[in-house]
Amino acid sequence: MDIRARLHEDIAARREDLIALTQDLIRIPTLNPPGANYREICDYLDRRLLRAGFHTELIRAEGAIGDSDKHPRWNIVARREGKAPGQCVHFNSHIDVVEVGHGWTTDPFGGEVKEGRIYGRGACDMKGGLAASIIAAEAFIATCPDYAGAIEISGTADEESGGFGGVAYLAEQGYFERVQHVIIPEPLNKDRICLGHRGVWWAEVETKGEIAHGSMPFLGDCAVRHMGAVVAEMEDSLFPALARKRTEMPVVPEGARQSTLNINSIHGGEPEQEEDYTGMPSACVPDRCRMVIDRRFLIEEDIDEVQAEIRAVLERVRDGRPGFDYELKELFRVLPTMTERDAPVVGAVSRAVESVMGREADYVVSPGTYDQKHIDRIGRLKNCIAYGPGVLDLAHKPDEWVGIEDMMQSAEVMALALHELLGG
Ligand SMILES: [Zn+2]
Repeated sequence: MDIRARLHEDIAARREDLIALTQDLIRIPTLNPPGANYREICDYLDRRLLRAGFHTELIRAEGAIGDSDKHPRWNIVARREGKAPGQCVHFNSHIDVVEVGHGWTTDPFGGEVKEGRIYGRGACDMKGGLAASIIAAEAFIATCPDYAGAIEISGTADEESGGFGGVAYLAEQGYFERVQHVIIPEPLNKDRICLGHRGVWWAEVETKGEIAHGSMPFLGDCAVRHMGAVVAEMEDSLFPALARKRTEMPVVPEGARQSTLNINSIHGGEPEQEEDYTGMPSACVPDRCRMVIDRRFLIEEDIDEVQAEIRAVLERVRDGRPGFDYELKELFRVLPTMTERDAPVVGAVSRAVESVMGREADYVVSPGTYDQKHIDRIGRLKNCIAYGPGVLDLAHKPDEWVGIEDMMQSAEVMALALHELLGG
């Protein structure tokens, strides 16, 4: 029997185990924020991976953003050496899930199985992917015990809030220095390989005014009207210019194959009162107005250009508006990243997809960022992709689910990729 058939048979025999493992992971509510039960899920993974012959380490991201004694940021890194020296393939999954939200018809932490799907918060994003990678590794180890190199599986904190207490921390500690290939089983669909993501630049724009009595606004200067002029200038010149910038990155969905900008919030003037406040607002001219913008940019764009473009908008407004003054402050930046299509991990996974699914893999790029940013920038490892089961559109929604058949097939793909990269 050839290796593909043997792995297929071995994984088929693990179907019930895969379902139970996914359910167990969903039933540990690792909500983030606040970052609950990280230790519990790491302990669970620790027991599981020790049984499979891994050497494990539980690592608390002490001092990282979000880490506290009440909600410690625990991570697990497990490694299993092969029979000979060789390369290391690392599967990285985040263990946190986002808030439940409204509209569920199933128990979000029940792990209910219905018509070939497992339901729960984190089912597709990404406990199903984590379970599939564990089953893939266990099946590969059983089928090819003489492999060379090493397999690593990590479960990391806080991806949903930036990954600083998770992958960023591990990368800073040098955990990726001994790794050659990274697969992140995010829910990108079982036949798609995600090469990277667009860049992000968050900034705050503040316009300045002068407070005065609202009955005599001419004695003050309204910061909200100044901000209105900024938004109008954005509508006139910036949004059309962004829409014209197209990328060669295969971003999905199609609408994100260009530069985008979102205005996250605008706050100006008197703060909003509590809902039970029954008084009237007071009469004041707002002296401050703040806007937070979320600019997503392309691999063809330079971060300095992205910033200069916003500054140019503000300067044009200044030229045409007496008394206009502003401040521009960067909040957060992530550079775009895209792994080359001829990178070794891309080749191994795409050949495995073709072999299991009988069709060529699609290459995609994510509109938003994920932990690949830290592996690329801090870990300095370019040979990294996201590949895993589940439908991306279901992530963060009510009645989130992952398909059992999809998990089985992507586990086969991961196991076959292990065989190509580590032999045995
Ligand atoms: Zn995710």
